[in-house]
Amino acid sequence: MPGPAPSLYDHLPSELPLPEGEPAYRRRQLARWLYQHGAQDFEVMTDLPQGLRDGLAAEHRISPFTAVERYPSRDGSVRYLFTLADGSRTEAVYMPYEDRKTVCVSSMVGCPAGCAFCATGALGYGRNLTSGEIVGQVLAVAAHEGVEPRAIRNLVLMGMGEALLNYDHALRAIRTMIAPEGLDLSPRRITLSTVGLPGRIRRLADEELPLVLAISLHAPDDATRRTIIPTAYAHGVADILDAVRAYQQATKRRVTIEYTLLRGVNDQVAQARALAGLLDGLKTHVNLIPFNPWPASGFQESTSAATERFRAELERLRVPVSVRFSRGRDAGGACGQLALSEGAAAQAAPRIAPSQHA
Ligand code: SF4
Repeated sequence: MPGPAPSLYDHLPSELPLPEGEPAYRRRQLARWLYQHGAQDFEVMTDLPQGLRDGLAAEHRISPFTAVERYPSRDGSVRYLFTLADGSRTEAVYMPYEDRKTVCVSSMVGCPAGCAFCATGALGYGRNLTSGEIVGQVLAVAAHEGVEPRAIRNLVLMGMGEALLNYDHALRAIRTMIAPEGLDLSPRRITLSTVGLPGRIRRLADEELPLVLAISLHAPDDATRRTIIPTAYAHGVADILDAVRAYQQATKRRVTIEYTLLRGVNDQVAQARALAGLLDGLKTHVNLIPFNPWPASGFQESTSAATERFRAELERLRVPVSVRFSRGRDAGGACGQLALSEGAAAQAAPRIAPSQHA
């Protein structure tokens, strides 16, 4: 049995496939339908000859998903659960802030990094998403929300998965998103989150893409970090921050430090002080993230008093800091919870040892 037809989103807009003999301007027309109008059906592409539409439809799909489920939250954000052609599932979150519509997309089914506090980590690793399956999340959200794809001006690669372990597909997706004939997004409005893989961060620094890099640090020292992040055994905090320095030098961008506050684990004032010391000399912004409890996580949210003490200490030490309000808590909670609750854990393959990566 042949597999499902490939999605057109897997191709860079400048490389969209055309039957032999078709003039090149047809590629621009096709890209316009896909990325400006968000067409989900070849039949609406009325300025393409019927024969070309039929030929494209015979060999390609537009959306890479077989089902899209939408879970609105009371706070206005919307969680999306996507079923892929092989039956596995991944998810995205749409955050329609007034002046900047944002989509947080996944780069994998599950995640091999296995962070102890993360619902996605509990799923284990399923597989890498293709670039089309990453880009397709933005286009599916736009179609279901009834907005033009280019109305979405901010993109966050912070859903399921470690994007830098799916490097080639994640970068190809980003190149489609920033292409003028693609989604025409500014790379400065794309945030790529990583658990901290120094080799891959250095490689990213060489791409000449001024993305916002977000480091999931979550602890200021290796001993604490190792209790919650398995990759911390392979990559120490000092190595990660050296790579961040190289990234900052190459891109001149401020780096975001993600720090999920876990009660009694990493939320002490002394740890805030240690964090401030680490970040000295770097241009960063610390995002403190209240932990979003999920069943069987084994962790508790920090109290508001502890959160405030941690924030105030960083501020006192002149570290730019904010507390991030976690969206979508009533619509599936932490990233990975929708898929977890849908039984996707059963599809996930065993975890890959962290030392095998990067
Ligand atoms: S926090 Fe990020 S890197 Fe860690 S398991 Fe979850 S998705 Fe993977």
